Amino acid sequence: MRTIEFIIIHCTATPVTVTLESMKAYWKNVLGWKNPGYHYLILPSGEIQTVTSEQNIANGVAGHNRYSIHLAYVGGIDEKGKALDNRTDAQKQAMYAKLLELAGRYPDATIRGHRDFSPDTNHNGVIEPFEWIKGCPAFDVTTWLENYDPISKAA
Ligand SMILES: [Zn+2]
Repeated sequence: MRTIEFIIIHCTATPVTVTLESMKAYWKNVLGWKNPGYHYLILPSGEIQTVTSEQNIANGVAGHNRYSIHLAYVGGIDEKGKALDNRTDAQKQAMYAKLLELAGRYPDATIRGHRDFSPDTNHNGVIEPFEWIKGCPAFDVTTWLENYDPISKAA
């Protein structure tokens, strides 16, 4: 069993139409990664796709992966590639529910956004849009968790 210290939220920083298959191909063929970038992918529909087992390491934040679980929503940029929190209501609901479930299973883990981890040292020098916006996941995770109301779906 891995010891999980962080549950880290990401955006894919891609068009919202991107598929898990294309992301997997990108990680493997372009980046040459053996491991995927995330454990879970949340589609605009709210469907959550499992990318890899929680016992495996995913390459979400360099230097912090051994003890982290990575969760990404599809989206996070506008049509010009600038950071934008464009999560659908279904994505927010699914994300919140998944975080509750993970927090229940990993009560000692802290929930953070990617940008809360030294963003300047990560993902340098690559021109493709996956993951390299400094603002990932395009919203403040702590503020959102404090304000999100899963009943009224506000915030
Ligand atoms: Zn990220």
